[in-house]
Amino acid sequence: MVHKYMKKVNALIIFSLFLVLLVLFSFSKNKNSLSQISADVPCLLPNLPLVMHLHSELSIEIDGKIQNIPNTIGIEKSCERAIHMHNDTMGKIHVESQTVRDYTLGDFFSVWGEKIEKENYDLIMTVNNQPSKESSSVILKNDQKIKLVYTAKK
Ligand SMILES: [Zn+2]
Repeated sequence: MVHKYMKKVNALIIFSLFLVLLVLFSFSKNKNSLSQISADVPCLLPNLPLVMHLHSELSIEIDGKIQNIPNTIGIEKSCERAIHMHNDTMGKIHVESQTVRDYTLGDFFSVWGEKIEKENYDLIMTVNNQPSKESSSVILKNDQKIKLVYTAKK
């Protein structure tokens, strides 16, 4: 009898543990949903030197109008991303990294939470005034000028 009772208690404990884990798992998933957008672009850690610091310029034009690019991209409450904007020149992308690696325009868009391709728009991209088909795989470099010109499809 006692043995049977203990078995029931054990099953109950295991079941409760399972529930607790399930709740913890879904909670941490929710908490990280913002960071998951740009999981590949790390937050800068305090007290670690920058080994890369470069600036790339981005301008976006839609149907002939220059677009405002938010200067808060990559600046989150508790995290400054390795790719971010400051309140300086509009469209100036700062790449400040604590590891040596390449960052792409796609990484920037991922931090922004936007897509480079727009539905019903043709995109012409130039890098330093040269046409480029690299799209999101363009590697961000210092003193580089990236222009994205969108035109509504007719
Ligand atoms: Zn900078």
